[in-house]
Amino acid sequence: MAFKGGIHPKYNKITAGSKIEKAGLPGKIVLPMSQHVGKPCEPIVNIGDYVRTGQKIAESDAFVSAPIHSSVSGTVKSVEALPHPITGNPVKSVTIESDGKDDKVEMRERQYENLSNEELKEIIREAGIVGLGGAAFPAHVKLSPPKDKNIDCLLINGAECEPFLTTDHRLMVERADQLLEGIRIIRKILETKDVFIGIEKNKSDAVKLLSEKCKGQNIRVKALHAKYPQGSEKKLIYAVNRRKVPAGGLPMDIGCVVQNVGTCLAVFEAVALSKSLYERVITVTGRVNRPKNILVRIGSSVKEAIEEADNYKGQPKKIIMGGPMMGFALPTDELPVIKGTSGIIVFNKVDMDEKRQEIECIRCGKCVQKCPMHLHPSLLARYAQKGKFGLAEKTFAMDCYECGCCAFICPSHIPLVHWIRYAKSEILRKRVERKKKEKKSKEAKGSEHAEKGRKTGESSEKKESEEEKKEEKQASNVPESGKEKIGAEESNEKPQAAEEYKKEDNPEEDKKE
Ligand code: SF4
Ligand code: SF4
Repeated sequence: MAFKGGIHPKYNKITAGSKIEKAGLPGKIVLPMSQHVGKPCEPIVNIGDYVRTGQKIAESDAFVSAPIHSSVSGTVKSVEALPHPITGNPVKSVTIESDGKDDKVEMRERQYENLSNEELKEIIREAGIVGLGGAAFPAHVKLSPPKDKNIDCLLINGAECEPFLTTDHRLMVERADQLLEGIRIIRKILETKDVFIGIEKNKSDAVKLLSEKCKGQNIRVKALHAKYPQGSEKKLIYAVNRRKVPAGGLPMDIGCVVQNVGTCLAVFEAVALSKSLYERVITVTGRVNRPKNILVRIGSSVKEAIEEADNYKGQPKKIIMGGPMMGFALPTDELPVIKGTSGIIVFNKVDMDEKRQEIECIRCGKCVQKCPMHLHPSLLARYAQKGKFGLAEKTFAMDCYECGCCAFICPSHIPLVHWIRYAKSEILRKRVERKKKEKKSKEAKGSEHAEKGRKTGESSEKKESEEEKKEEKQASNVPESGKEKIGAEESNEKPQAAEEYKKEDNPEEDKKE
């Protein structure tokens, strides 16, 4: 089962057979206070403090947040603003110098069968567990759906559709029993009946192993068509049980919760072994001498991770944190691995098509055909270029989850994701401004003044809407197939880096769906 749109890139899963190796202890770690969706943490340690491996060093009072733990034992050297690996912006970070002893806080086995759901969620929160597929959404929040949401389906995401990455694959093969125990814990918390594990068919060993282990456990393994972005939440849900998340909605709106396999394993370790999230598995691959999967301490530098793979093979041209489709290009290897880091990929000059030049849109419609969200990427990009953010919002720019399929397929090499991301950030900025204005206007005294404000607002809105209608007409010079699809079915520059991993879509693959 698969979805409409999407692409078949060259998968390059060269580390699929490489067993997870333990990386050496880093000399120092850098822990940004923002490694998760939600409110950043505040340090609870001071310069000069001694900390142990697994010790909580930062927390937040917000519900949507996740505490941060030291991944080494040693001394706090600094608390200062340092560049964040994803945004590049300076964020408060704690630097800890390792004493090389790896002196751990007590991690005891816990009898958890009789713990209440609230107790389990608190353990998961305290352990700093976030979604390890890359989104880094705090796990305890996903496990606390509002009471009016009837969650009847838990989906475990083992698709790992991004080229090059093989961490989830290795975890499913090497740690299947612990993974299944993590799934049972999550199922207990959510009190869900149906549990599915979605795995792309190109990981046949994982499909076979988990299918055997799940027999008689009311957990069903679904072998999915290998197609990017099969691992995105919405596509996975559709592929597994044909439910559609409404535009602007969340999986829990249709009774589903999705968790990545790595997150399930981290939940098991937190609950059963009292272990906080201070290390994770990443794939180090591309132009390195020995591509591999490693269990690395969070806060280690990218440089150290690359050294674990016997260093660069030749001159690196681009380093990507995450996968080649949705990851982020790094300006330097001196940045830290964070909770959401699933891989490090190195590309050289040969991998990069330097002759590739952006030309005008030829209106081929390929971006529309391949967009898994059935959006109109070229139109959205045009709106962004012209500053027509209202129109971009109306044509569902916020539904774009930046998978990169459109830019991948575009023969004119237009950085479509870059433009759509720009539109999204402007839409969000305008929403915040609008909210502030509304708040101010509510607070304003005197009904006459408020009434006047409303009228002015109405007239400017009318003007804007007329202008937008005009613009909509002008912009309608697009392929018919594209126009039909706008919203029809569901309602830092990302890489798009290496030509080497690309191949033309194979139409035969789509016919099989
Ligand atoms: S518009 Fe967004 S969701 Fe659609 S293909 Fe492009 S990046 Fe993916
Ligand atoms: S794929 Fe590129 S050239 Fe073709 S319509 Fe989309 S933006 Fe234009």
